[in-house]
Amino acid sequence: MKERIMSKDLMNKIDALGAQEYMSDAQLAVFEEHLRGEHERLIVRQQEITNTSMKNPESISGDEADKANAIQSSADARAESEKNKAMLRSVSVALQAIKTRDYGYCIKCGEEIGLKRMISQPAACRDIECETLEERKNKQNPAANLKIS
Ligand SMILES: [Zn+2]
Repeated sequence: MKERIMSKDLMNKIDALGAQEYMSDAQLAVFEEHLRGEHERLIVRQQEITNTSMKNPESISGDEADKANAIQSSADARAESEKNKAMLRSVSVALQAIKTRDYGYCIKCGEEIGLKRMISQPAACRDIECETLEERKNKQNPAANLKIS
């Protein structure tokens, strides 16, 4: 399960800047705007999940099927909520990295992550090599298997 925040709009905006130094001010500004929008969207979504679907199944009136449905959708909501929260965290980390100008560089090895990968995953914090290593590690330790980049 890999969360991608694909954005054609983002790609177009970066393309429109033309040839630039990697993570130039103009590019960082485009990524920042995109990530702020994403952050906003995730916060709204988080509120929706909390407000609408995380009801206590015990409080549902109706027959057993209604209760079973309520329990299922409450479990789904919790799973989505966890995923959403993890994405919010990585978007916040990315926004912070823009401020410190670490954005676009791998947190592990310091290499450039690359514009293409940053456009397809604007909250990525590792390059492909380090990400692959991390995924392999997570496979050996399923408890840490939360891959949102
Ligand atoms: Zn790396």
